[in-house]
Amino acid sequence: MLVRRGQQHTLENTVKIKGRGLHTGGPVSVTIKPAPEDSGFVFCRKDLPGEQCFKAGPDKVVDTNRSTTLGEGKCRVGTVEHFFAAVAVLKLDNLIVEIDGPEMPILDGSPYPFFIELKKGGKKKQEASRLWRKIEEPLFFRDCFSSIVALPAEGFRVTYVFIAPPPIGHQALDREENWEELLPARTFGWEEEAKELKKRGLARGGSEECAIIFRQGEEAPPYRVPNEPVVHKALDLIGDLALYRPVLGHFIAVRAGHKLHNQLARELQAGEG
Ligand SMILES: [Zn+2]
Repeated sequence: MLVRRGQQHTLENTVKIKGRGLHTGGPVSVTIKPAPEDSGFVFCRKDLPGEQCFKAGPDKVVDTNRSTTLGEGKCRVGTVEHFFAAVAVLKLDNLIVEIDGPEMPILDGSPYPFFIELKKGGKKKQEASRLWRKIEEPLFFRDCFSSIVALPAEGFRVTYVFIAPPPIGHQALDREENWEELLPARTFGWEEEAKELKKRGLARGGSEECAIIFRQGEEAPPYRVPNEPVVHKALDLIGDLALYRPVLGHFIAVRAGHKLHNQLARELQAGEG
């Protein structure tokens, strides 16, 4: 069910963000513009012949391997989840995102730089009501040892459990508000895995400036926020849901990732009624 709560917002002013893609390693520049009410999030690839644009949504997710890629035909934009986590925390509803490459910049590996830049653009209130997808019946998805559950709730709550070998170990997060202070949580990986990805031509922009790199048998590098890995997983979930629309529910994820996040978002979109 969709419920009206508050009003939609866009940016007051255009915002520009420059950086490098995590997987391509190439420079990329993004221009984020205000958009009319009820238009949602429209991505335009400025580097492709003719202007190619599409509206974001769970049904436009074409790849969930290590990050979330949106696309329509040959027009693709990768690693969108950190941008959307910042958009969700700022409660923005309508934006045009112009990009000159295939991937959003990784910046420092967290949603925080997107949040800071978008905030500089200022928020503009729009006439139309904000429509929230309210969970009415429990939903769940499973994939081997991973699962995700959505339960009815009046607000927005995330419970995330992440389990990995030491030095990460067992980590959990349960939170309903004050997401802003968690936005600096960075993406993470293992040193061996990073080497393997680079061999395959992936994660070319990956370094300790844009991720926490763990080494087996060594202490964890200093965290920016307590339990930074599980906090980052929760932010990924928030971003993967926000490319759909604001949601009201209690989301419980155990060892989940972009694939399960997207399965849930697709189901929410399909059943919005
Ligand atoms: Zn992430």
